[in-house]
Amino acid sequence: MNSSNHQLATKTVHAGKPDQSFEGAVTLPIFQTANFLYAGEENYHAVRYTRLNNNPNQIAVSKKLAALENAEAAVVTNSGMTAITSALLTILSHGDHILFQDSLYGGTFNFVCEDLPQYGIEFDFIDGNQPESWSEKIRENTRAIYVEAMTNPLLKIVDLKSVVRFARKHGLVSLIDNTFPSPINFRPAEWGFDLSLHSGTKYLNGHSDIIAGAVIGKKTHVENVIKKMNHLGGSLDPHACFLLDRGIKTLALRMEKHNQNAAVIAEYLNNHPAITHVNYPGLADHPNHTLAKELFDGFSGMMSFELRGGVASAEQFIDRLSIITHAASLGGVETLITRPATTSHLGLSPEERIKTGITDRLIRLSVGIEAERDLLAEFEQALQGL
Ligand SMILES: *Cc1c(COP(=O)(O)O)cnc(C)c1O
Repeated sequence: MNSSNHQLATKTVHAGKPDQSFEGAVTLPIFQTANFLYAGEENYHAVRYTRLNNNPNQIAVSKKLAALENAEAAVVTNSGMTAITSALLTILSHGDHILFQDSLYGGTFNFVCEDLPQYGIEFDFIDGNQPESWSEKIRENTRAIYVEAMTNPLLKIVDLKSVVRFARKHGLVSLIDNTFPSPINFRPAEWGFDLSLHSGTKYLNGHSDIIAGAVIGKKTHVENVIKKMNHLGGSLDPHACFLLDRGIKTLALRMEKHNQNAAVIAEYLNNHPAITHVNYPGLADHPNHTLAKELFDGFSGMMSFELRGGVASAEQFIDRLSIITHAASLGGVETLITRPATTSHLGLSPEERIKTGITDRLIRLSVGIEAERDLLAEFEQALQGL
């Protein structure tokens, strides 16, 4: 269905759906099949086989994602890390060099540091907030620049317009991990990024019940990523495609509620005497607030904060919560809370964590879509006397 003129909320429901109905079904059935009848395909990538990313469920949800970001093309993957690693291995070859923003998602950081050198790929980290320092890191073999729309767990925001300008000036491919804003709050293609990467496990699916990912962007790059993935074997199972597609149908609704709930909770926590500070780009005192307002249509449901009382208070606080669940991951309908030092950033030494600003007492919150007054009441009782 061609829905390029529709609003995002309409696209979340309808975009990508084939024009043809199957047996009159209103929704796209699940094509739970590995292979298809031979129909004269003339090259390997065209062979109808679910690993080759041409199953109707894969195609439909991929088209929906491209439509949501106003991008030329997209492909879904079997995890966010598959999206990230396949994109990097497509863009980069032995002998190439790439620039990464200095506070990366843990899984990406590990891949960059532990695996890229094995393929003879060189890299440097750049300080996202110092664009004037980036050109010092440019080399003859620099091919790409990679950033995250909002950093985890400190919610820092790079001037994304500078990233695109810098990439164009130096002929680099620009990549962005757009998991945190989701296509509802930020659409990288509209700002000139070449590739947008997602963990579909988070906001896109939104129900914390599948692992998935997506690569969205320029057609030539996406086609090359598909070919690479056909070799690496990163395709998303048809049933998971169906679930992802179903999850995305409520993405606009959910993000609206995530945005709203988080704004109220950030304000509440920011004014609470037991809390020293809150990192949330929607707060007027966030160092990147003006930039965030210009770039994003909403600030999402992610924030982090510190209690005055330190680690002991943080643990007590988390223990007292009941609907707010103590677990890693994010972007689901349920509110989740975690201390990054014990989960996502456990791989870093205490010194490395301090250097990146991730203290042991830091608490990360992924605000869900529950009723705001229930969440506030729970915080109120859990913060008593801390
Ligand atoms: C979770 C996450 C990933 C990795 O996604 P998986 O689906 O777990 O493979 C990548 N980037 C960000 C920002 C994430 O939050």
